[in-house]
Amino acid sequence: MESSTKKDVDGEGSRLRRTSKTVEDPTTDPKTITSQEPSRKIHFKNGFNEISRITSFFQESYISARRQFRMYAAEGCDSYQQLEINAKGFSGEDLTIDIARIGLKNPRNAVVLISGTHGVEGFLGSATQAAVLHKTSILSKDTSLYFIHGLNPYGMSHVRRVNENNVDLNRNNAIDEALWASVNEGYTKLYDFINPESPPSTIDDFFFKAKVGWKLFRHGMRSLQSAVTAGQYQFPKGLYYGGRVKEQSIKLLESFFKEEFQNTKKLYAVEIHTGLGPSGETTVFHDFPENDPRLSDLTNHFSSFYKIEHDKEGEVATPNLGGLQQGVQHILSNCEVSWLIQEVGTYDPITVFRALRKENRQHFYTDLTGKDLIKVKRDFLEAFVPQSEKWRIRAVKDGILMLEIGTNCFF
Ligand SMILES: [Zn+2]
Repeated sequence: MESSTKKDVDGEGSRLRRTSKTVEDPTTDPKTITSQEPSRKIHFKNGFNEISRITSFFQESYISARRQFRMYAAEGCDSYQQLEINAKGFSGEDLTIDIARIGLKNPRNAVVLISGTHGVEGFLGSATQAAVLHKTSILSKDTSLYFIHGLNPYGMSHVRRVNENNVDLNRNNAIDEALWASVNEGYTKLYDFINPESPPSTIDDFFFKAKVGWKLFRHGMRSLQSAVTAGQYQFPKGLYYGGRVKEQSIKLLESFFKEEFQNTKKLYAVEIHTGLGPSGETTVFHDFPENDPRLSDLTNHFSSFYKIEHDKEGEVATPNLGGLQQGVQHILSNCEVSWLIQEVGTYDPITVFRALRKENRQHFYTDLTGKDLIKVKRDFLEAFVPQSEKWRIRAVKDGILMLEIGTNCFF
């Protein structure tokens, strides 16, 4: 791939360690994560109990999040590489998808933890990855653990949900080219409401709830949400735009998966997202077909901890095409891919939607710089990764628990 270069961790580690800032070591905490902890196939050094300073893993910028990831990767992983993205970050930095592995290449079982599919949401995923990297030693011999950091590094760096082409990477995994020509009728009707082609205004903001109320009255919550979030392929400056070709992040991920998992029989992935569902709570999304035996595993193992929803039928999410899991299962046809999404709610849906709509208008129709721009970014980040310590600690613990439960349940 033209835009990608791979660097091995060999020889890189010492440089990374020297240039990385030291992150405080979490102290020992006698409390356990939960009284119902499952038996583990992932082993944490000294157990998992000592992660008491989870909030220290949350970084405020892409640069520091990546630095932290690289530091832990250099210290504790068997392999580490960077896939370069052809775009620049908020401070002009280079952008990379960073991938670390604990265990052997091409394992029989692979566990994959992914952050930053939706850029801004990546600050939770990055913190979870750091917490796991920091404490994980080794899996069983036939299982390897992968960390994919910042799948959409542009979005993470610029504090946007979408990538350098305004594309939502979770709507971009076409397994059929016809996707690019598909038309979302409901979205088209609501286009002017979703994407006003003007800078955000106080008056508009003031009437926003009334407008949403009117739309809800006319369309109903379900169809409104569905029309907006199902994804669209017609309006390159609109929200939930899925693109017209596969984006570089997706192509790089596919090449990596094809090469790395040639003989892998089972792959369990946790893709970390935020912004949907009840605040602070994790909803687990899957897309297992009806009658899939894994459905009962999912219910038995996960339902005492999380709400479980089918990706296309639940109350919280709505059907969308081009999701990451579909693309990965398509390219790994001989591997059983169990792909779960951890979705952690932040604020109510109207607040989150308002933040998305406002940010998109700011991006396309204003030229803010300096402090004004930073304020906008900070507000947007809050909508997806709240400052609340309670929220942050619970979200990370829930993600780690998902990783553990699934490893026991699907392998
Ligand atoms: Zn997301």
